[in-house]
Amino acid sequence: MSSATGSAWSAEAGAGRLNQPAADARFWSGDYYNEGHSHEEIFDKVKEECGVFGVFGHPGASELAYFGLHALQHRGEESCGICTSEEGAFHYHRGMGLVKEVFDRDKLDGLVGDRAIGHVRYSTSGSSKLANAQPLVFKYRDGDLAVCTNGNIVNEPVIRRELEEQGSIFQTSSDTEVIAHLIARSPKDLVEAVKDAFARLIGGYAFLIMTKDRLIAACDPNGFRPLVLGRIGDAYVFASETCAFETIGAEYVRDVEPGELLVLDKNGLREERFAKMERRAICAMEYIYFARPDSDIYQTNLHSARKRMGQKLALEAFVDADIVTGVPDSSISAAIGYAEQTGIPYELGLIKNKYTGRTFIQPSQELREKGVKMKLSAVRRVVEGKRVVMIDDSIVRGTTSLRIVNMLREAGALEVHVRITSPPFMNPCYYGIDTPNPADLIANTKSVEEIRKAINADSLYFLTKEGLMDAVGGHEGEKNRGLCMSCFDHDYPTQVQFEQAKATSCSCD
Ligand code: SF4
Repeated sequence: MSSATGSAWSAEAGAGRLNQPAADARFWSGDYYNEGHSHEEIFDKVKEECGVFGVFGHPGASELAYFGLHALQHRGEESCGICTSEEGAFHYHRGMGLVKEVFDRDKLDGLVGDRAIGHVRYSTSGSSKLANAQPLVFKYRDGDLAVCTNGNIVNEPVIRRELEEQGSIFQTSSDTEVIAHLIARSPKDLVEAVKDAFARLIGGYAFLIMTKDRLIAACDPNGFRPLVLGRIGDAYVFASETCAFETIGAEYVRDVEPGELLVLDKNGLREERFAKMERRAICAMEYIYFARPDSDIYQTNLHSARKRMGQKLALEAFVDADIVTGVPDSSISAAIGYAEQTGIPYELGLIKNKYTGRTFIQPSQELREKGVKMKLSAVRRVVEGKRVVMIDDSIVRGTTSLRIVNMLREAGALEVHVRITSPPFMNPCYYGIDTPNPADLIANTKSVEEIRKAINADSLYFLTKEGLMDAVGGHEGEKNRGLCMSCFDHDYPTQVQFEQAKATSCSCD
């Protein structure tokens, strides 16, 4: 694990039934062991983005940031960092790895000051390096600037090219640095400079910016990425998810609105805007999969929303079965909802081993063929001889679904009926979620029936957009009830220059 520490101003079936496993898919092939593979490589999911946390006006700022980031760890496991400010002096520490690995008591004690911003980051493998860990700290004319982001700037390549033509030299490939350059070049006061910079951006993002005397929080004009404001005593806190507030004992105040810019300084909180709200488009995948079930987005609890997705699935696509099980962890809430709606008992048919990290011990071929599953196992005594409804949140490439269906069959399930709590995922995301090449998205190239066959399920059903919107609740009267569903319907809420948009990773990359 590498790390960087600094003080002050450095830069950084339908039809048919298939009771037997497909001949060529009897066992998981290859990558379901955990040797040298990250969770993401084993589980065929679109990948989380990043998480941000900020605190202003609390003597234990670094400790609050530590626990806040720990609660947001699911949003990014590659690297993390905290930057504090003490009477104008910045102190920061960043490193590769989990929050609990990167920070210890000594590191936190060195992060003095009553304000802090922090970040957890997921990255695509090619950019998994310390230089891109956040917060990034820059020098600029009025002092120094620490910035962390969650999301992706669609027009970043265009802005970067313009800035380079005007003489800017970039140290990283990060969108965050582009923002810093835009701010630094403006002759205006910091808040106005930040507003001007954000007004140029197209994309989905939540930003925290800290200077020696201010902390600024902002959300893109569509509100793709969640950001919430809270209080702890007299201090203010920001976080990507409310679960961070629960952890530190902070009180939720409200969600940061699309296009809003909140400024904290010695005079308190100032609520400003850098843009009017465009069509609200909160990422539907936050509700379906990314956010923790104990978090709320716009006061909708995620566990409850996912339960309703399960109930909707039951109403849209009931199938007679003996048990319902959810693919852990994100689909357990929906499986409970499906079970409640149908009266079919919910059972723990699949178990995730939470303690697998990277391991460099290669299992023998014999162990491979016996199907030792380090990450996920079917509970034979639960599923054997049963007709199983298996709830999952999405199908991306289809590889994981096939593995899990076959795992249930190998454990003795008589039938496996797959129910998915999202519509078919068939388009790339340009707003900060790392999605595969469209050609690799199984729903982009296959019909539902073809997917059913490919994953060896007895039946397969995807929740409708309407069912999803009903389950979430959302904002009545707004398009898609305020949700972004572009990866399902290709209706992108912003201009997307497809040929220019950079890869669909988080702007933290
Ligand atoms: S395209 Fe999909 S993953 Fe991306 S923001 Fe929209 S709903 Fe979320």
